This record gives sequence, structure tokens and C-alpha cells, in this order.
Amino acid sequence: MGALEHTAWEELLELMETEARRRRAPVYEFRKHVSTPFRALVAVLLSSRTRDETTLRAVKRLFRRAETPEALLALSEQELEELIYPVGFYRSKAKKLRELARVLLEKHGGKVPESFEELVRLPGIGRKSANVVLSGTFGKSAIAVDTHVHRISNRLGIVSTSSPEETEAQLHRLVPEELKPRLNLAFVAFGQTVCRPVKPLCGACPLAGVCPSSS
Ligand code: SF4
Repeated sequence: MGALEHTAWEELLELMETEARRRRAPVYEFRKHVSTPFRALVAVLLSSRTRDETTLRAVKRLFRRAETPEALLALSEQELEELIYPVGFYRSKAKKLRELARVLLEKHGGKVPESFEELVRLPGIGRKSANVVLSGTFGKSAIAVDTHVHRISNRLGIVSTSSPEETEAQLHRLVPEELKPRLNLAFVAFGQTVCRPVKPLCGACPLAGVCPSSS
């Protein structure tokens, strides 16, 4: 697709969002339940190697019992394990959740910090997770690059990269600042419904006319 102008970026995101909403991408339901920084932080920690549907059921159960770091720390590791099961690696994630709550209380007054540097120092929070929280709940111009963002950016020819880190660096140079917070959700939703990892729906894709990978 080559370099995109500002309006082209906006149109691209709108096309993706419209199509993904029409097809009821699961990520929209998921993000509705994790719209505060604390919820988002807990959800990204639980979501690694776990399907969105499974993570969503686990976070709903967990948030009914613990909505704050204090409440979370009041639960035993075993209670946490039972609440988040069957997310992947639920035992180590239960440990990490308690550590996360403790660090939030001890170092950040029980609040989720708003800087990338502080977020990636939290237990269980990596680069992608920090960017999801920054862009998704603080509205910062961060770009969370997961497998959907990395794959679709390359398929569309927006970038030509071999790692999510490279994709993140290139997208930072290419995407207009005010559109960065929208990018992750639009790409993930589109990746769940149309530009899927396997058997993408190129025949029904609104971008097929401009996509070099259309089949
Ligand atoms: S045409 Fe196919 S590969 Fe290109 S964005 Fe659409 S679904 Fe993905």
C-alpha cells in the first residue's frame, strides 16, 4: 500500500472497524469489560496464551471478587487459581497477580502508573501489555503490536518486518499521532474476523483491491 496519508489511515481504520463490528469481533465484548486501567492490566496479564473468551470468563469471575489491588491481595493464591482457571499457566499467573497487586500498592499508591517505563517494571507486564494499557485505557499514543497487528501490517505492505518490535518502530514513524490509540483494537478486531491468521477472507475483504497479499 506504500506510504499512507493521514486521511488514508483514518479510512483504513474505519473500514476495518466497520467490517469487524458487523462481524461481531470478540475483542469488542472483551474490551468492554476491561475499560479501566486496573482491569486492563489484570486482563492483559491473564490473556497470554489464552483465548479471549476464556480470559473474559476468568476476568468476570475475578472482578466480581476483586476490583482493586487491595481486594486482589486479600485473596489467597489458591482462591486466585480457582477464580482464573482455566487460563493458560493459571498457577504462575495467580502468583504474578498477587505480586502485581503488592507492587501497585507499595510503589504506586494502588494506582496503575501512566508511563511505559513504570508499566514494564510491573510483575508480568511486558512491552505489548504496557502499550495495550497505555493506548486502550489512558488514550496515549502508544501502539501495541501483537500477532494481529504484525501480520496485517505486513500483509497490507504497510511495513516489511520480521518481528513485532520492528513493526512497532516502523508504525510509530508512519501512523499519525492521534490515530495510534485506535490502531491495536481495529487491527485485532479485523484480524479476528477477516484477515485471520489462517484462511483470511480475501474474497469478502474491503481492502482486497489495495492489498498486495489478496488471494
Ligand atoms: S485482502 Fe486478504 S490478506 Fe489482504 S487485508 Fe484483506 S483479508 Fe488480509
